[in-house]
Amino acid sequence: MDKPILYYSTNKKSPSLPFDQALLKGQAPDKGLYMPGAIPVIPNSTLVKMKDMEYHEIATIVTGCFLKGVIEEEELAAMTRDAYNYDVPLEHVYDRKYVMRLDRGPTASFKDFAGRMMGRWMNHYLNKLNRKLLILTATSGDTGSAIANAFYGFDNIKAVVLFPVKEVTARQRKQMTTLGKNIRIAGLETKFDDCQALVKQAFSDPDLDYLNLSSANSINIGRLIPQTVYYFYAYAQLCNKPGDEKIIFSVPSGNFGDMMGGMLAMKMGLPVEKFVIATNENDEFPTLLQTEKYNKIVPSKNCISSAMNVGHPSNLARLVDLYGGKMDETGKIDKLPDMNAMRKDIFSVSVSDNETGNTIKSAWEKHKLLLEPHGAVGWRGLELFLEKNHEYNTKDKLCVSLETAHPAKFPEKIRELLGFDPELPPSLKGLEEKEENFDKLDNQYSNFKEFLIENYR
Ligand SMILES: *Cc1c(COP(=O)(O)O)cnc(C)c1O
Repeated sequence: MDKPILYYSTNKKSPSLPFDQALLKGQAPDKGLYMPGAIPVIPNSTLVKMKDMEYHEIATIVTGCFLKGVIEEEELAAMTRDAYNYDVPLEHVYDRKYVMRLDRGPTASFKDFAGRMMGRWMNHYLNKLNRKLLILTATSGDTGSAIANAFYGFDNIKAVVLFPVKEVTARQRKQMTTLGKNIRIAGLETKFDDCQALVKQAFSDPDLDYLNLSSANSINIGRLIPQTVYYFYAYAQLCNKPGDEKIIFSVPSGNFGDMMGGMLAMKMGLPVEKFVIATNENDEFPTLLQTEKYNKIVPSKNCISSAMNVGHPSNLARLVDLYGGKMDETGKIDKLPDMNAMRKDIFSVSVSDNETGNTIKSAWEKHKLLLEPHGAVGWRGLELFLEKNHEYNTKDKLCVSLETAHPAKFPEKIRELLGFDPELPPSLKGLEEKEENFDKLDNQYSNFKEFLIENYR
């Protein structure tokens, strides 16, 4: 097999590691994020061939470039086939403008794309090493169900998800509590932040070392790499002249994992003209791009696109690194990235809640395009970019905006704005009848610790 790519830490104080080790570590010991030491390039001839490929085949090629020397191609092909057993619709809106729906996975958000691949990779390497992991995570809604689903049924991984009983919708809760097997869900009569604090305390408790705790959160390199694939897929499906034509993507963003996947795809040779990075009212990034000053938003603002309520994007250090700068885990910039180069590739804009609601209405009225709040932020970002940049605002310019969740996950908002209930996707149907099962915990660390020791000796 080929020599493996080594992954370095953005803080530059930990040793570089091959993919399998970086995957199982999650965060680097120096608290930096792992980045590929060399970015593989996909030639035009391969882009041309992708036109006739299924999503999982493209996933094998694209992720395979990053895993050279640490996985057999046939094993990887079997994993991608298993992970990507659902549709990735590219909905035509007008001219050559499209919405890519990343919401047809088992938990109806784009987090399924990364979670399902990372789960399979982790299980594969744990199997080889004869090791086991206990994943601990706290959720305010979407992440918990995506993680629980991604790890469901594996032999070497168990998962515990803590959620605030009063802060998640019944539908979100049922997506987690109806699974069973190796997945345990605990509800707390408290806030999300308290759930998060309990999880963090467990990670730093030496008494629990024997449990092999891991967080599987969005900074894991194993979640980043699968998010490069759908950019290749959209391009291959939609472009007329692979290699010659450039595409514009709009990405609704919170922790910037999704957009980092796109940036990597561009660095791998995907012909991207521009990334529109649309945030909600948490506008720390558009402000950084404009003013070259970075100020975290603490606490983050509560917007209707709740999965993007982030005041300091956890993947921002990776973007800064990609443009030659250095940012530590607290958000301190030690070296400013090449801001001109960044502005050439990225247009970033903040979209208010009011505009988000108006966009859900106008997209439906004008185009019969059904969006939920996250996708609406992305679509509005694209509209604003095209309004402000006439040279790109032409009939022929190929643009794809990402829809990151299914509208049926936000029935109250859609009903309020459009006056009807969105139809449930197959993955969310039948949830009502399934039996729920979850533990109840209080906000005491000692009780949480006992719960872990009791259940996972
Ligand atoms: C997590 C999430 C986002 C934000 O993605 P990032 O990678 O954190 O930028 C957007 N939309 C939905 C529905 C999400 O669940």
